Amino acid sequence: MRAVSAHPDVLVITSRVWQVNAIALRAGEEAMLIDSPYFPDELEALPDVLAGAGFEPDALIATHADFDHVLGRIAFPGLALGLGEPSVVRLHQEPGAAQRELRDMDDHLYVDRPAPLALGQVQTLPVPGSVELGSEELELHPADGHTGDGMAIMARWCGLLCLGDYLSAVEIPWISPGGSLDAYRATLARLGPLVEAADTIVPGHGPIHARDVALRLLDEDVDYLDALERGEERPALPKGRDKGEQRKIHVSNLESLRA
Ligand SMILES: [Zn+2]
Repeated sequence: MRAVSAHPDVLVITSRVWQVNAIALRAGEEAMLIDSPYFPDELEALPDVLAGAGFEPDALIATHADFDHVLGRIAFPGLALGLGEPSVVRLHQEPGAAQRELRDMDDHLYVDRPAPLALGQVQTLPVPGSVELGSEELELHPADGHTGDGMAIMARWCGLLCLGDYLSAVEIPWISPGGSLDAYRATLARLGPLVEAADTIVPGHGPIHARDVALRLLDEDVDYLDALERGEERPALPKGRDKGEQRKIHVSNLESLRA
């Protein structure tokens, strides 16, 4: 697990697996944790890491309901998890799915987890909408297409944009169950102006971007979606995202489109 200060009020924690990012953000006396690292030891260390850096969270929020983003309560069982309304709907439609997928992935990676995931009481947030942090306001923008739910979180006062699973330098666009190509395209179009207005752009997976890098990834992702829509079996994947695992995601995307 790595912690990088991206701004005096932003600390990005990156897990050892899938480079999944958790983002701690503070405004005045209050702090919030967005998404989560994965491994039990990372989650166990997280309260001390955040407290030591002055980011002890008062609230938890997740960009979407995929199992690798909703683990914050394992580190902070006293806090409720805030989810966008579409994510809450998804949880109700797929009861126990996040817990099951986490268990399966733990089996796959031989991870011993002290206790099963308990999502507890979930706080529903309006998307589009906003949520308060201290005296500031976080904007919640719809970001579906990767899945049926999802939101991008914009902290305009400090130039931070948290994307969830979009514009990653390590992962191609992934149309996973519940997602769709059309919704993905609409989300990319919506993200453009947000990226233009941001200084620090944090994807769900992989390195933090400056604005120009995020805009380049956006272009690459639109090109990739075009190739996907044409049904190309072996399109040229974006540089740095063209290895074996990404090819597998492409095959899975083709299957989603045909389903
Ligand atoms: Zn993810």
